Amino acid sequence: MKVTRLEETKKTMPNYQNNLEHLKDELGKLDLLIQVRIVAFRQAGQTPFPTDPTHMYISHEEVDQLLKPLPAWQGVRAASKDIQVSLERHQQELRKKVGHSLQQGIFLALPQLTHIFSLSPFEVEILLICLAPELDRKYDKLYAYLQDDITRKKPSVDLVLDLLCASEAERWEARSYFSPQSPLFRTGMLTFIEDVQSPSGSSDLARFLKLDARILNYLLGTNHVDAQLVNCSKLILPHSNTEAIFIDPSIQKNLLQFMQHHFSDQSKHRKKLVIHLHGSYGVGKKELAASLCKTLQIPLLILDLPLLLKAPAQIESQLKLAFREGLLQQAALFLEGIDPISDPQESHRLKYLAQAISQYGWLTFLAGEKAWVQQPGQFEGSLFQSIQLPLPDTSLRKAAWAHHLSPLNIEETHTWEEALANQFRLSPGQIRDAVQSMQAQKKRSKSNITCADLFKACREQSNQKLNEMARKITAHSDWNDIILPDAQLTQLKEICTQVKHRAQVFGVWGFEQKLSYGKGLSVLFSGPPGTGKTLAAEVIAHALGLDCYKIDLSGLVSKYIGETEKNLSKVFQEAETSNAILFFDEADALFGKRTEVSDAHDRYANIETSYLLQKMEEYEGIVILATNLRDNMDEAFTRRIRFIIEFPFPDIEQRLAIWKRHFPKQAPLSDDVDYDFLSRNVQVAGGNIKNIVLNAAFLAAENGQVIRMAHLIQGTKREYEKIGKLWDESRLGITKEKAR
Ligand code: ATP
Repeated sequence: MKVTRLEETKKTMPNYQNNLEHLKDELGKLDLLIQVRIVAFRQAGQTPFPTDPTHMYISHEEVDQLLKPLPAWQGVRAASKDIQVSLERHQQELRKKVGHSLQQGIFLALPQLTHIFSLSPFEVEILLICLAPELDRKYDKLYAYLQDDITRKKPSVDLVLDLLCASEAERWEARSYFSPQSPLFRTGMLTFIEDVQSPSGSSDLARFLKLDARILNYLLGTNHVDAQLVNCSKLILPHSNTEAIFIDPSIQKNLLQFMQHHFSDQSKHRKKLVIHLHGSYGVGKKELAASLCKTLQIPLLILDLPLLLKAPAQIESQLKLAFREGLLQQAALFLEGIDPISDPQESHRLKYLAQAISQYGWLTFLAGEKAWVQQPGQFEGSLFQSIQLPLPDTSLRKAAWAHHLSPLNIEETHTWEEALANQFRLSPGQIRDAVQSMQAQKKRSKSNITCADLFKACREQSNQKLNEMARKITAHSDWNDIILPDAQLTQLKEICTQVKHRAQVFGVWGFEQKLSYGKGLSVLFSGPPGTGKTLAAEVIAHALGLDCYKIDLSGLVSKYIGETEKNLSKVFQEAETSNAILFFDEADALFGKRTEVSDAHDRYANIETSYLLQKMEEYEGIVILATNLRDNMDEAFTRRIRFIIEFPFPDIEQRLAIWKRHFPKQAPLSDDVDYDFLSRNVQVAGGNIKNIVLNAAFLAAENGQVIRMAHLIQGTKREYEKIGKLWDESRLGITKEKAR
C-alpha cells in the first residue's frame, strides 16, 4: 500500500486529534507538577493533610492512587529527580505536538486563548490549574489534600504558587500575575473567591481562584456566545444568510477596499479599525456591516446598545464582556444605537467604550442616526472612519419594494413598486416594516393587500416625529372646492404636473446631473388672510396623495443663535421620508426685508434664511411659503422661488361660488337664503365666509330651525365684530325682512 506524503508527515510529526486530547495531555503535565509538590512535602517529612482517622480526610493512599504512578511513600527521595525529568520530557513533547497540530489546522482552545490574549506561559499554567477540577473531580481531592482541608477544593493563590514556583523569589515575582490589571483578571477569565471560613477575612494568598464559565466553555471547545450577553446580542456567522442590501454599490465597494487594504497590513502596529456608520433608521447599516464581514469571512457580533444602557451601572463591565466575546469569536463587533453614547455629555460612557476598544477591539462598527464629530484622541490607537449612508435613490427603493413585495405573490405589485418608490423616500428597513405591518393587519382581517393599503402603511412609517413639530393638514378638499381665477388654478395644477413627472425628468432623462441646484419645488403663496392659501396646499396634497404639514415659521425662528437651523433641519429630515408637502406659514418671519444688518442677530437671521433656501432646494418634495405681506418679502429670496401665486381677494362672482360651496348637501337650507345678496354686500374673504356659514348653522341648530337668511346675517355680524369691520345694516342693504 502506498503511503501518502501527508500520512508520512503525520507519522514523523505527532499531533493531537482534537482539543480534548490536548487538554488531557495538559492534565498529565499537571499531574506531574502535583507529584513534584507532593514529593517535596514528603521529602520534608511534612504531611500535607491531618491524618486523624476520626476526622474526614483524604488519605495518602488515596492520593497515591489518584496520581499513579506516584513513587512509593518510602522512595520519594530517589523519585524526585525522575519526576522532574518526566515533567520536562512531557513538556517538550507537548509543545511539539501542539506546534504540529496547529500547523495542520487542528483547533486547540488553550493555545488559541493564549494567542488571543497574549498570555504568558505562567498564566497558561494558572488557567490549567483552575480548569483541571472542571475536567476531572480527582483534582478536588488533590487540591484539598495539598491545602490541608477537605473543604478547600478550589485552588488558592498559595497553592498555585506552590505548584508553579521553585523558590521564594519566584513566588514573589509571580504575585504580579494576580493583580487586577493582569490579563487573567482584567479580562475576567479568573475571579477571586474569598475564603468564607476565615473569620478574619482571607489574605491575598488564601483567596481561591474561579474560572469564568464562558472561558471554561471555550476551553472545552464550545464556542457559544457568553450567557450574560445572549439577550442583547446576535452572532452572524459568515456562512449564514444575510439580509438583502439596498445601498449605493459604490459605498459598499469603497469600504470593502479600504478594509481589505487595512487588514493586508499584518504588522503588529496595525491600528484598530472603528467604522462609524450613520444614517436614518432602516438605511442598511447592519446589513452593510454583515455583508462586508461575509465577504471578508469574519463573524459579526451585533450588540443592542440601548438594551445594555437600561442597566447603566453595568455598562462598563458589559462592554468589556462584549468586546472579549468579539475576540473569542474572532468576530467584528457591531454596536447598534450608538447615539446616546456619542453625546459629549455622556463622556464617561464614551470612555468605557474607548477603553474596551483599545483593550479588545480590532474591528468595531458603531451605528447610529446622528453624525459624529470625533474629538482628538477619542479613540487612541484606532483608525476612526465615519461614513454616512444616505436614503436610497428611486431605483434602489424600487428594488427594495420588489424584494419585499415578491413573496406576496400578487401580480400587480410590479406596477405598485414604481409608484411607491416615487412617492415615499423610505429606507429599505421602513419598506420592509411597511410591508410586514400591512401583511399582519391583512392576516387578521383575512383580506388581500392593495396598493392603497401600502400607501397607508408608508405614511405610518414616515413623519412620525414631524407631528411633534408641525400640524398635519388632513387633505379632503379637491379641485371643486377651491374658487380662484383661472390663471391661479392653472399654476396650481402645473405644480402637480411637475411633481408627477419629477422622477422621469430628473431621473430617467438625466436633468438631475445638469442642475447643481434648483431641483426643489419651492412655491410662494401670497395674499390676504383667508383667501385659500392653506386650502390650495390641501388640494395639491389631495391630488398627489401626499401628506401636508403646516409649520408656523414665526414659532420655529428662535432667538438663540443656531437653534433655528437645528429646528429647520429636523423638519426637513423628518419630512423627507414621505416627500410631504411642507407649508411654512408666515414666511415673512424669515424672509422679511431687512434694509440693513443692524445687529448680530440680524446677521444670523440672514444665515437662517439662506439655510432655509438651501434646504428647500435639496428637498425632493414641495415647499410652500405663505405670506399675507408679499410686499414685505425680500426680492433676493423671491427670485429663487419657482412658483409665485397671488391669492386675490375674491370678486363678487368668486364670493358667490364660495358661499354656495360652503353648504353641505345635507344641511337644511331655507328658501330665503339669498346668495346674490350675500356675495354682493358681504365683502369678505373665503375664510370669513366659512366662519359665517358655520356661525349661522349653529344658530339655526340652537333654534331648532333650518338655516335662514336671518341666521346668516347674524353670523355675518359676529364675524364683522370679530375682525373689527364696521357693521352698518343700512349700508349693507339689510332690510328688516332679511334680518328677521
Ligand atoms: P391665512 O393667510 O389667514 O392663513 P389662508 O389664505 O391660508 O389664510 P385658508 O385657510 O386657505 O386661507 O382659508 C380658510 C377657509 O376659507 C378655507 O378652508 C375655505 O373653507 C375657505 N376659503 C378661503 N379661500 C377660498 C377659496 N378661494 N375657495 C374656496 N374656499 C375658500
